[in-house]
Amino acid sequence: MAVRVSYGALNNGMVGQLVEVQAHLSNGLPGMTIVGLPDTAISESRDRVRSAIGNSGFTWPTGRITVGLSPAFEHKRGSGLDLAIAMAVLACANSIPPAIAEGPVYLGELGLDGSVRSVPGAITTALSVAREQPGSIVLGCPETISQIALVPGIEPIPVVNLSQAIQVLTGTRSADPIQILPDRDHSSAVDLSEVVGQRPACRSLEIAAAGGHHVLLSGPPGVGKTMLARRLPDLLPPLSDQQALEVCALRDSAVTTWAGIDRSPPFLAPHHSTTLVAMVGGSVGGMLRPGQISLAHHGVLFLDEGPEFSRKALEALRQPLESGTVSVARAAFTERVPAEFQLVVAANPCPCGDAGAITCHCSPNEIRRYQQRISGPLLDRIDMHIRVGVPVGSARGDRSEDVRDRVQRARQLSAKRLASVEVSLNSRVSGDQLRRRFPPDAAAVKVMDDWRQRNQLGMRALDRILRLAWTISDLAGVDQPGEVEVAEAAALRQDHRLDVS
Ligand SMILES: [Zn+2]
Repeated sequence: MAVRVSYGALNNGMVGQLVEVQAHLSNGLPGMTIVGLPDTAISESRDRVRSAIGNSGFTWPTGRITVGLSPAFEHKRGSGLDLAIAMAVLACANSIPPAIAEGPVYLGELGLDGSVRSVPGAITTALSVAREQPGSIVLGCPETISQIALVPGIEPIPVVNLSQAIQVLTGTRSADPIQILPDRDHSSAVDLSEVVGQRPACRSLEIAAAGGHHVLLSGPPGVGKTMLARRLPDLLPPLSDQQALEVCALRDSAVTTWAGIDRSPPFLAPHHSTTLVAMVGGSVGGMLRPGQISLAHHGVLFLDEGPEFSRKALEALRQPLESGTVSVARAAFTERVPAEFQLVVAANPCPCGDAGAITCHCSPNEIRRYQQRISGPLLDRIDMHIRVGVPVGSARGDRSEDVRDRVQRARQLSAKRLASVEVSLNSRVSGDQLRRRFPPDAAAVKVMDDWRQRNQLGMRALDRILRLAWTISDLAGVDQPGEVEVAEAAALRQDHRLDVS
């Protein structure tokens, strides 16, 4: 007898896995075997599917059913293939046309009564389906479908049970509307206007937000470095649909209950004792789990007391800073997991933090060793080095909301200008492109030439200044950086190691 096919998909942590389900009915003792590395939950699918089919008014086929899950070499976990298996079995029994079973991608566990239930990490799964089989109709329970409603490239349809699924697919009833939950509420508890006596640092933070520049905050303990860093996510524009989906997919890979999409950029502040696996991610019980740097995707990764982090943890940041992804080992494979974050590193000037004061007894050697823990190549990727001193005066920062508006306007300007080089933020433009296609005005070129000729600055340092100068121009709504913008940019990046003065 013929082999019938349906499609389902599972979540393996941070990656979705499209599964082809084949069912074959043969003569022999009645029963059902599932092959293709199923775990216990899938093996138990046999009993759930059988009851669900019976309780939905269909007859269980007589004979022996073999269900094959492909690709056969990959382990499959969870109960999310129930609905797909049921469809392949019903096609085998000629209860539904084979084309109905084969068309959509089915996501869902079945209750014994035939009800369709939610599956964990549906967004990740749906994103993979959209990538591997664009245009697919995806069936799942209303809760699952409301989660994946925003995923582009698929056509989600909610169904409450097996019979409804078949009625909708055969056209005997129309699909229920998709319920979309409102965005998750995000009213921030912190505001830039609470920062007192740090106007220059607040201005620097605004520039960092507008251009997506990585930041090193150096200064003695207690001057407010952490307070400043915590306010950065609120200065960033809310996440787009696609970005919010990617963030939810990473964060919610084990979650079935859905509270709506979260559009606030994430803020992650791992402690310096965090292990390497917790930082970069890894495999836990066969499931891929995101590390702190992936959870900070499209948001801010803050490393307080940066030099206290292990060398390995710091070096692990270099790949994501360059490519926006991190390689995570999983069994025999290496997965590339998204990790495009804005880095903020805070550092004390010396191990005791009091460098320059009479209370500091750190030797010059100790200070040098401490500062060198953040390596040159890592520092090279950080556009802004901001010195944070003790607060001066009582001037407050602007309201976060107002700054965010300015940041958004500046980002629109840079995105428009940079569309031809396929990036949207000034921090992402390569030095080469920057020099060839986006020079400053003539007066600024002369100033920068002077700096170079007097051999004060190397090429990379000049590139960084130019990048920052463009962000400053975008914030000011100026067409091209001039002397003023270049001078302000130069002050944001002194090219020496953490300041001890
Ligand atoms: Zn010291």
